[in-house]
Amino acid sequence: MHCPFCRHPDSRVVDSRATDDGTAIRRRRQCPQCQRRFTTMEAASLTVVKRSGTTEPFSREKVLSGVRKACQGRPVTEDQLAVLAQQVEEAIRTAGTAEVEAHDVGVAVLAPLRELDEVAYLRFASVYQAFDSLEDFQAAITQLRAERDAAAAGEPVPAAAAPL
Ligand SMILES: [Zn+2]
Repeated sequence: MHCPFCRHPDSRVVDSRATDDGTAIRRRRQCPQCQRRFTTMEAASLTVVKRSGTTEPFSREKVLSGVRKACQGRPVTEDQLAVLAQQVEEAIRTAGTAEVEAHDVGVAVLAPLRELDEVAYLRFASVYQAFDSLEDFQAAITQLRAERDAAAAGEPVPAAAAPL
């Protein structure tokens, strides 16, 4: 690839290592003309198949914009959203397929979003699981409550908060 500084058409790899999660290779390159260094990333391409049958490259930004809408007015930070989008991408890449259905991307969002904010989760689930009645919401809320109660029963609640 071109040097991003001087557009020289060639560059030399000076270092090459896998990212921590092993899903990409980061290469440090040096331009033989201007001697400046830059980094490139190499990752397997991941294609999303939309309901219409058209495909597009997986985009973390697209996941973010959908989740951000569901989180409007909720106490969720941009940093938390960025972590969530990364978790979603890792979950999908770990599955090891080069193509994924758009619906499955939505499904991969549900578990980490539920950890983050239950209201945002319900909003998002209502779109991705196509809730079409109050009963659908009620069933999802009942399930959230049941699981929350089960978790609470399994973890003893401390008698008093530790002093600060
Ligand atoms: Zn250069």
